Amino acid sequence: MNNEAHGYDFHWDDLGDPKTGRPHLGDSVSLAVYRLMVFTFKDTLSKEYGLEKTKDLFVKAGHLAGRQFCRNLLDKSLDLDGFIAALKQKLIEMKIGILRIEQADRERLTFTLTVSEDLDCSGLPVLGDTICDYDEGFIAGIFEEYVGRPFTAREVDCWATGDRTCRFAVEAL
Ligand SMILES: [Zn+2]
Repeated sequence: MNNEAHGYDFHWDDLGDPKTGRPHLGDSVSLAVYRLMVFTFKDTLSKEYGLEKTKDLFVKAGHLAGRQFCRNLLDKSLDLDGFIAALKQKLIEMKIGILRIEQADRERLTFTLTVSEDLDCSGLPVLGDTICDYDEGFIAGIFEEYVGRPFTAREVDCWATGDRTCRFAVEAL
């Protein structure tokens, strides 16, 4: 039997119940532990598949996460302004980052948004390249799930490019 042929399908329930599972430690974890996992995945996957493919896989995983995040934690029946306000709140509550909408074209569904104190990159050394590939997918996935149309998000500024916030160009396809 070839196990590789059988992919794993993520389900929200797979995240488990920290209240019963971690009565003393709860559902928070240190940022260093999160980043340790992300960057060791990146190291391992890039040696197996190359860096470009790895970045692509991070975008894809982020996209799936964004869709699931929206479906399970946000109210899709809100109007755009209400939805964005709720999203901002949730991203702070879960300590993912501080979202700000810099520019929004409601007709064409294009947005420029920033995420400060970003989970993935804030405080990193300047590497000269944007690194928030997972976030690109995550943001696109959230908008896609909410609007019901495909979206892309491209990171144009990042802590790792020397900026003090991550900036994303988001648009409906
Ligand atoms: Zn970034």
